[in-house]
Amino acid sequence: DLPHVQGNVKFKDLVFEYEPGRPALNRINLDVTAGQSIALVGHTGSGKSTIMNLLCRFYDPNEGVVEVDGHDIRQVTIHSLRSQIGVVLQDTFIFSGTIRDNIRFGRLNATDDEIEQVAKAVHAHDFIAKLPNGYDTEVQERGNVLSMGQRQLISFARALLANPRVLILDEATASIDTDTELKIQEALKTLLAGRTSFIVAHRLSTIRNADKIVVLDHGRMMEIGNHDELMKE
Ligand code: ATP
Ligand code: MG
Repeated sequence: DLPHVQGNVKFKDLVFEYEPGRPALNRINLDVTAGQSIALVGHTGSGKSTIMNLLCRFYDPNEGVVEVDGHDIRQVTIHSLRSQIGVVLQDTFIFSGTIRDNIRFGRLNATDDEIEQVAKAVHAHDFIAKLPNGYDTEVQERGNVLSMGQRQLISFARALLANPRVLILDEATASIDTDTELKIQEALKTLLAGRTSFIVAHRLSTIRNADKIVVLDHGRMMEIGNHDELMKE
């Protein structure tokens, strides 16, 4: 098993091909210290999701290694790895059930109080409290009780409750009203605090706040630096 990690992540000389002869990742080297926030940017097909797929071990690299706290992730159980990596996908996953169950998401020992606390922390509590049945309001997977922005906030609450050391977040591109957008930005800060994060970033604010920006281009890593450093060049 992977012991409880701090969240140092290292990609060493990664090469990965979905199809022989067409590398989706080509010599990726990246050293991330626990607590850092990494923004991944690049055109469609540049390899952003592929890097995250390898970190979650949906695939293994053809060459190179991914390490978490110095452990080659191929040497630990997938369960112990994934239990410490949280994933918030762009197409936010809401299932049919109550809001409470959606935030709890399998963490059966989470109390109502804890659920309310995380909802408050990500600014989701106010709109939830205004729903007809509050936290017990039933939502549908494809229903329209929740706006896209509200779905995001629910998924942030869920991730905060799970409290993983490493968080992968594929930022939604859906247009969101200004008010909710501000809440999401605030919520993101709370969610990222104290953990290592990889964000497939679409918001300029997210890129600005990142410790490192990784630009991918046809599977190669082009630049590294934070926003201020890049602006100087
Ligand atoms: P987007 O911004 O559209 O999400 P991305 O940067 O996440 O793009 P990837 O999904 O990592 O890009 O794709 C990198 C390359 O790998 C692309 O050439 C893509 O066509 C290819 N690819 C991705 N997934 C698969 C797959 N399951 N099978 C075969 N090729 C794939
Ligand atoms: Mg992608």
